[in-house]
Amino acid sequence: MPPTDIAIVGAGLAGLACAKTLAAYDVRLRLYDKGRGPGGRMATRRVEADGHVLNFDHGAQYLTAHGDAFAAVLDAAHAKEWPDAGRRVGVPRMVSVPRALAEGLDIDLSRHVTEISGAPGAWYLHHLDARQVRPGRPMPAAAPERDGPFQAVILAVPAPQAQALLAGPAPHLAAVLDVVRFEPCWALMLAFPERLDLPDTLRPAAGPIGWAARDSSKPGRDASLELWVVQGGPAWSREHVELPAEDAAARLLEAFAVQAGTALPEPFYKSAHRWRYALVEVPLGAPCLWDAASGLGAAGDWCIGARAEAAVDSAAALVAAIRST
Ligand SMILES: Cc1cc2nc3c(=O)[nH]c(=O)nc-3n(C[C@H](O)[C@H](O)[C@H](O)COP(=O)(O)OP(=O)(O)OC[C@H]3O[C@@H](n4cnc5c(N)ncnc54)[C@H](O)[C@@H]3O)c2cc1C
Repeated sequence: MPPTDIAIVGAGLAGLACAKTLAAYDVRLRLYDKGRGPGGRMATRRVEADGHVLNFDHGAQYLTAHGDAFAAVLDAAHAKEWPDAGRRVGVPRMVSVPRALAEGLDIDLSRHVTEISGAPGAWYLHHLDARQVRPGRPMPAAAPERDGPFQAVILAVPAPQAQALLAGPAPHLAAVLDVVRFEPCWALMLAFPERLDLPDTLRPAAGPIGWAARDSSKPGRDASLELWVVQGGPAWSREHVELPAEDAAARLLEAFAVQAGTALPEPFYKSAHRWRYALVEVPLGAPCLWDAASGLGAAGDWCIGARAEAAVDSAAALVAAIRST
């Protein structure tokens, strides 16, 4: 019998797609995310600077649909073509795509799941206020809250994070994820006081920068602003992954000026974000992870490959596996 009481950790595309499909069945769902909103790496950063509200898509840049399932997700979110036919973006922001998928779902936000305890058929999730959890620092002293029992738990988080949660209750499943590798990515967000004499997108063949785009040229954005997202390439981001954010920002800005071939005006906003798990380098090589005996499973882009579509396809595979239990 398929489980009817399921917890999902992670409300990025994979977790949301799992929840949306499972909601059509007679299933009781709880969905948790440590973020302040759903979307994960399909992210938009909103800041205020110099009297302007600035929105940067500092995660996924554009989306391509090869199959019907992801095309349907993009159509439902009214994603528009950019920078050319075949590539699409969320409108008015990239996060609009996961937000459309999240409609009607109850999500426990700002909850950082720290542990899975219990036994097959009766799992418990332990979670803390995510605002108190700092990466690389000891966990806060506050006792985590505990929810459950759940018949099944879906981990829709990057593989290293799924592995950490599986290590206690199911080390044999955690070990399966050893093979998965992610590339980090530094993403620099820039707001300039005037338009730069550059095309909307740059993909240098060599050097520190992997991709740069005029974010404000995307459909539905405020075109009176000059906003850029500049990504470090995989090799550069890996080599500099532990840099303080201010140093990464300074170095990427310098590299961007070299790439532009001209002096740049001083940006009135500049901030770098480190994605430790950005793009999948080595995937699992199976569409999802599902262990019917324990009721523990995982889904995400990292099962299939380095594209947002893979997250949705992985979710579909996991739900199919769960329903055939
Ligand atoms: C810089 C960058 C550029 C990219 N460019 C592109 C691109 O151009 N095109 C493309 O197709 N794809 C791109 N991608 C990849 C794309 O964003 C991902 O494939 C997709 O968003 C993955 O979705 P997911 O649901 O598998 O994982 P995620 O989006 O990572 O979702 C995981 C969720 O789990 C939550 N979470 C993690 N741990 C916990 C925990 N312990 N407790 C609670 N919640 C937790 C996170 O907050 C997150 O919301 C890019 C990614 C990055 C970072």
